[in-house]
Amino acid sequence: MVLKKRHLLYFVVFLLVASVFVLPRFSVRPLKIDFINVGDGDSILIRDPGGQTALIDTGSKEAGPQLADYLREQRISTMDYLILTHGHPDHIGGVPLLCQEFAFGTIYDNGQEISGGPDPESARLASEYLAHVREGSRYGILRSGDAVELGKTRLEVLWPPGGEFKTSDYNLNSLVIRVSYGSTRILLMADMQAASEAELLVQTPDLRADILKVGYHGSRLATGEAFLDRVRPQTAVISAKPRDPEKPHRDVLRQLAKRDITVYRTDQDGHVRFALFPNRTWTVETDRNRAPDV
Ligand SMILES: [Zn+2]
Repeated sequence: MVLKKRHLLYFVVFLLVASVFVLPRFSVRPLKIDFINVGDGDSILIRDPGGQTALIDTGSKEAGPQLADYLREQRISTMDYLILTHGHPDHIGGVPLLCQEFAFGTIYDNGQEISGGPDPESARLASEYLAHVREGSRYGILRSGDAVELGKTRLEVLWPPGGEFKTSDYNLNSLVIRVSYGSTRILLMADMQAASEAELLVQTPDLRADILKVGYHGSRLATGEAFLDRVRPQTAVISAKPRDPEKPHRDVLRQLAKRDITVYRTDQDGHVRFALFPNRTWTVETDRNRAPDV
């Protein structure tokens, strides 16, 4: 009789464990975040379980056709939001093509002046950007304190602060976005570098995140130790082009390894796709079919 009671107790414990760890996978649909392999640059697709979508950055002009193909393969023709983190060509280069081929509800950037460089190619990109993004009726500016609601997913802007820009450096003014789905958090650092990271640490004491999109493609100019210790991610994603000796930099990789942070890299893993659940669990799928990470 005692034994039977014990069995019953085991069964109840099993059910409790299952309800916490297993059942949410079946009863709750995941938030999907794809770090799309665009070679040089960033492009991140966010799909809320309710069907709302946001695209953050568009990679370079060269990667535009590939990115458009990827989105079409995902059966996407319209997106609720396009968010451009800053004005460098490896983030906004795909804008002209994407804006021709896809419909976006609202397009956001940080409002910093976009002026092309002296070469005709970058001057053309700047003028196309202004026409597609800034002069459209669906354009808005995001700064620290703003948030975009994507169904049950919240995109919170942590950087740059409002008002005048303190620097003209595009990277230092990158839009930093914290994505929250239930208690799961993903921190997207765009091309943030150390000087702004230090200010962000002061401005936002709670920077904890489960997944970190490493700043500035893993350059040693970003992702300082104090920053990593504050964020304490379990998993990191680096969007980088192949065979670049500086990005990601070995010092940054070493700091991530020292903290037992699982690292995915688009230059090695291809597309890196997360399915995230609200209870701080997730699965990862890459082109290399690495084992799922929970
Ligand atoms: Zn970049």
